[in-house]
Amino acid sequence: MSSTSSTYLPNWTIGGADAYAAVPETVAAYGTSAVIIGGERAMAAAGPRIREALAGSPTAVTGSLVAGDEATQEKADELQSTGEVRSADMIFAVGGGKMMDLCKLLAIQAGKVLLTFPTIASTCAAVTRVGVIYHRDHSFSRYVFRERPAEHTFINTDIIAKAPTVYLWAGIGDALSKQVESPFSSRGLDLGHSDRVGVDIARHEADPLFAHGAQALADADRNEATEALREIALNILVTTGLTSVLVKHQFNSSFAHAVYNAHTRMPNVSGHLHGEVVSFGVLVLLTLDGQLAERDRFHGLNASLGLPTRTTQVSVGPERIDEFAERIMDFVRPEEAPYEITYDMVRRALLDLNAYSADHEASPARR
Ligand SMILES: [Zn+2]
Repeated sequence: MSSTSSTYLPNWTIGGADAYAAVPETVAAYGTSAVIIGGERAMAAAGPRIREALAGSPTAVTGSLVAGDEATQEKADELQSTGEVRSADMIFAVGGGKMMDLCKLLAIQAGKVLLTFPTIASTCAAVTRVGVIYHRDHSFSRYVFRERPAEHTFINTDIIAKAPTVYLWAGIGDALSKQVESPFSSRGLDLGHSDRVGVDIARHEADPLFAHGAQALADADRNEATEALREIALNILVTTGLTSVLVKHQFNSSFAHAVYNAHTRMPNVSGHLHGEVVSFGVLVLLTLDGQLAERDRFHGLNASLGLPTRTTQVSVGPERIDEFAERIMDFVRPEEAPYEITYDMVRRALLDLNAYSADHEASPARR
């Protein structure tokens, strides 16, 4: 095996209303033409600001494509066939995690440079290599990987503050998973340099979420791009992304994301956001792993922010616990845990967590 490997870290610019002022100079290194692709709401929020920033610069915009909100193979193929994409050197991905992942797949198969413009802080997708691809029925299909993360990410906190707060809420739920999942799946292993640095970053991932998460949500409710919101946006988008690009996939997301992936395969549970379900998966993992003091601490955070703490809050009633445990087992990978996880352990953890939650008040969900 070759001992040569390359690691590419995320590059990012964060700012308020003028955050895109750095776009022309930054993207000039990567090409002379760009296609802007995003969801409808994201394009309305960011599209004119990006075009304004590029006005008078050497970068030509080949077009703006509104692409819906599904990261599917079919959508990537459809976009790739357009003249706007074919004639562009760069793809500007504008929106949330699904748009980032869709554009990663497109950038891979079309051989384009990728620049990302997250308009919500809901996952770390804007700065990572991995993309999650779904079937058209919204169920999980597969992961795809770029060789490197987006060449640059432009974070505009003014746009993020004005987006619906529910995305920041779910983003907190996704970000807090790293501190639990990475040390869990890497426990007991003698890690090499890159994995070790990535897992060490993850060990403190949730500290700012405990300290400033509630404040950032209150600020987002008032559409204000405050210092707390900036810290939380960086935590959700970048800190988690640093771990993601540094570690092997199994040390990035593990059991809590298995719970999420399983949840996408459950009938009649739609309407929940990725980070919302992941944050519930974290509580299941801490329960299963017997880290009860940490479980209680994270449970308190979920409860105070209105993130789910019991199966009914992710639309799984008591009569479907066994089915949920079975679906979760479909996504449990041996390399993502320090010991064998069994169906009985998962089922027991779901029941124990529900029992604990029954005794503890929770704030209403933000959805
Ligand atoms: Zn996630």
